[in-house]
Amino acid sequence: MKKLLAFILCAVMVLSFAGCASFRPYSEIEADGKLIVATNATFPPYEFIDDNGDFAGIDIEIIEAVGEYLGLEVVIENMEFDSIITSVSTGKADIGIAGMTVTEDRLKNVDFSETYATGKQVIITSSESGIKGVADLAGKKVGVQTGTTGDIYASDDSSIGSVEQYNSGTEAVLALSQGKIDAVIIDNEPAKKYIEKYEGLVIIDEEYTFEEYAMCIAKGNDELTAKINEALKALEDKGTLKSIIDKYINADTDEK
Ligand code: GLN
Repeated sequence: MKKLLAFILCAVMVLSFAGCASFRPYSEIEADGKLIVATNATFPPYEFIDDNGDFAGIDIEIIEAVGEYLGLEVVIENMEFDSIITSVSTGKADIGIAGMTVTEDRLKNVDFSETYATGKQVIITSSESGIKGVADLAGKKVGVQTGTTGDIYASDDSSIGSVEQYNSGTEAVLALSQGKIDAVIIDNEPAKKYIEKYEGLVIIDEEYTFEEYAMCIAKGNDELTAKINEALKALEDKGTLKSIIDKYINADTDEK
């Protein structure tokens, strides 16, 4: 009988823990000396793997600078974009940085740092497709990266014929170049990088939405959020954020 009770008690404890958001408070991260960062390195110029096999990009350099400011070693965990929020909200990673747009829906599951960059969703299509704007996507096959804002907008637009989900923007654009789909909805700066490799692909000059990028942090990990924001503010004041962004994005556009 005692054994049974102990078993039930354990089971209840395990189940209730599983349902809880968990995170490492800043004191624990500081004691460990390491900041575990979730990203999806298929999203140039924000995060990608360079020719030497190293993580590179705006987000990678920003989080490295944040780590340096806080005296923490940054440990990058590369995963699907769609796994980042779960990883952060279950405490597997301390923070997520992935050109991630702040949305009302995501705010239900995670907190966000201050915004450190802006972006917009654009349409990529072939120059022959006749697609000139959002209205022309009616009835078309549109590719997106699973779980991104591009996916959310496309899936919400009932006029679109079908939404094809891919694990990365690279795969979506490859499918477009092979004529399997008619267009891709994706963030503007990655769009410019993706089409460099393909002739005949163009970015439509109609902005879908304006977005703000921020880092996601487990809900209620206020100490960590405050430290990250303090670091971002210091890096902004020193001009470090701007010089990192300018290094990857043409400095003469008005993009941040
Ligand atoms: N900004 C988009 C989003 O947050 C895409 C991010 C990405 O693919 N890394 O959904």
